[in-house]
Amino acid sequence: MAVAHSLGFPRIGADRELKKALEAYWKGDLEETELREVGRELRAAHWQLQADAGIELLPVGDFAWYDQVLTHSLMFGVVPERFCPAGGKPTLDTLFAMARGVTSSCCGAGQAQEMTKWFDTNYHYLVPEFTLDQQFSLSWPQLFEEAEEALTLGHSVKPVLIGPLTYLWLGKSRGADFDKLELLERLLPVYGEVLDRLATLGVEWVQIDEPILVLDLPQDWKSAFERAYNQLQRAPLKKLVATYFGGLEDNLALAASLPVDGLHIDLVRAPEQYPLILDWLPAYKILSLGLVNGRNVWRCDLEKALEVVRHAAERLGDRLWLAPSCSLLHTPVDLAREDQLDAELKSWLAFAVQKCTEVAILARAVNVPEDAEVRAAMQLSREVQASRARSPRIHKPEVQARLAAIKPRHAQRQSGFAERIGKQRALLKLPAFPTTTIGSFPQTPAIRLARQAFKQGRLGLADYTEAMQAEIRHAVAVQEQLGLDVLVHGEAERNDMVEYFAEQLDGYAFTRFGWVQSYGSRCVKPAVIYGDLSRPAPMTVEWIRYAQQQTQKVMKGMLTGPVTMLMWSFSRDDISREQQARQLALAIRDEVCDLEAAGIRIIQIDEAAFREGLPLRRAQWQGYLDWAVEAFRLCASGVRDETQIHTHMCYSEFNDVIESIAAMDADVITIETSRSQMELLEAFRAFEYPNDIGPGVYDIHSPRVPDTAEMVRLLEQACERIPAERLWVNPDCGLKTRGWAETEAALVNMVAAARQLRA
Ligand code: GLN
Ligand code: ZN
Repeated sequence: MAVAHSLGFPRIGADRELKKALEAYWKGDLEETELREVGRELRAAHWQLQADAGIELLPVGDFAWYDQVLTHSLMFGVVPERFCPAGGKPTLDTLFAMARGVTSSCCGAGQAQEMTKWFDTNYHYLVPEFTLDQQFSLSWPQLFEEAEEALTLGHSVKPVLIGPLTYLWLGKSRGADFDKLELLERLLPVYGEVLDRLATLGVEWVQIDEPILVLDLPQDWKSAFERAYNQLQRAPLKKLVATYFGGLEDNLALAASLPVDGLHIDLVRAPEQYPLILDWLPAYKILSLGLVNGRNVWRCDLEKALEVVRHAAERLGDRLWLAPSCSLLHTPVDLAREDQLDAELKSWLAFAVQKCTEVAILARAVNVPEDAEVRAAMQLSREVQASRARSPRIHKPEVQARLAAIKPRHAQRQSGFAERIGKQRALLKLPAFPTTTIGSFPQTPAIRLARQAFKQGRLGLADYTEAMQAEIRHAVAVQEQLGLDVLVHGEAERNDMVEYFAEQLDGYAFTRFGWVQSYGSRCVKPAVIYGDLSRPAPMTVEWIRYAQQQTQKVMKGMLTGPVTMLMWSFSRDDISREQQARQLALAIRDEVCDLEAAGIRIIQIDEAAFREGLPLRRAQWQGYLDWAVEAFRLCASGVRDETQIHTHMCYSEFNDVIESIAAMDADVITIETSRSQMELLEAFRAFEYPNDIGPGVYDIHSPRVPDTAEMVRLLEQACERIPAERLWVNPDCGLKTRGWAETEAALVNMVAAARQLRA
């Protein structure tokens, strides 16, 4: 019998109940007991949903008040001193303080723990902080309580733990520079205690997530695996080591031979692991196959999956388990709630609940041969695949013909940078150290209200347009008064840098409830790319043209780049990411050309997600970088030499990718550098990056207004690394989250700093 299980379920709730309860609790509108009750209800509901879908072994420990890594830090007593748990015992407020920071506690202010991306997802976890003398002790009973809760409800459960090596890998050492791996021996006994306690509750199986097994691991980390699991082997319950987000590759033999009772592998991301894994798996071990994609919103091709399942069932018999490829944390909760998607599109989709059903059907298909339910599901799956394969809504001959007609010259500006910049300087006549901003100005409550009213039909198009034009006039007036050199229209009309464009492209769909947790109580609702992408009409030209009409100065047009559009959407699974990026690039290219034709002389194409698209394995980096760079060049290369192309990336770790950044060949790149004191420009200097650069001179993430001297100092540091004639002066990122007062104050100082440098 094949067993259907799940590695984790979204915790936020179909109606984002957890988000709402958390925010009410933080505001003081909800008591802790009430918050805990919401959590309990959500967990019960989610177990029931999974059980009803046919999942036999339910995950416990996938619920978290803020983040699952943070829960582990509390469980192991990894609570930095600044959060000073009262009486030594952390409370729920300790947990929230670690996640969100505190302005005052018994020992003063405590800055929140750092947050960073969970592997290659858009989920962010709280980075554990380890000190040299770090001690670990069992300090947080949540996992045991929740396991008991599920058992009391009569469920078969499988608690989920982040494995010791992944947990250490995700953390950072603080205070002293030391090797985190040295903490392993101290950490393992606590894992032993956790496992023992779970065993006393009557738990049979525990899932231990070690997703770092899909990364390029240093040898000492590889070796540590065997040591660690030899020690954990003693615990009196069965262990399933789960890997996901990629293939095991060079770690396959290591993972297969760990002294545990089962292994989960991701066959969506790395189908080539099967059947190879069978050669390595010891004959006593369970193999769990992740065949249903936990990272997207598409229905599984059940027939194709079933081929593997049948083969595996023959080879493994009762040792076969089936699951989604990874935790369903990264998918929305329930498609059934989408009442406004058209029936055809909806028939192609599956959210977490539906994905559980798919896993259960696959198990049933081998457990109950000739089952009517299975037959019906297979038939439906065949129909879905067939309809997606031939739907004219998906496959657009015009788009494909354009893609096929792309020639290398389309990704090539007319002349090299040296020649272009000469022409651009002659035309733009900007001073040395030209000043500009990254695009957005403060999104005030008035702007949001107007946009909301417009979307709900309470504000007519004419009135809405006038309201946004008034915002543009205001932004232009402020910028002129400040003396900025290259102006922007301020992006008042944009809700979000991806959604705004997605809404105007053909091939994108939008859900009503497709929320996915990004971090803590924050959720995003990514747009869904379902078909070939094209641009039916210009998207930004009227706004930018209007803005340019308000000023004699140069107005910069503002677009989102193809890679960022792709990374922050749910993408198609029937064609490659590369092809989708190309389609987006052609659509944006048309916009770039239209802006140029409308008299816009500088166009910025933001690629905020360029670096985060990097694959987990280094060997795959170049392939990604090649198509990502080409997509950018495709959209930027339809213009004359005189038209200046900018790009913006709001981070600054460029060491690994600097060659590709240069290959994008943007005339100007603006980046985030203020917090690192320009140190991050080092990559640009060492590589002799050839084009213009605008290193951010102030941090827009903080309300603090830096003074002129501070910015002058940063610019002087920049001058040591980049020739002065190639430097621009700008903030780190867009200003939409700031207020006008602080924005103006900071920009006054920034313009003054540029003037001082010119003098
Ligand atoms: N142009 C965008 C803005 O200013 C860029 C945002 C970003 O880089 N994340 O808001
Ligand atoms: Zn940015």
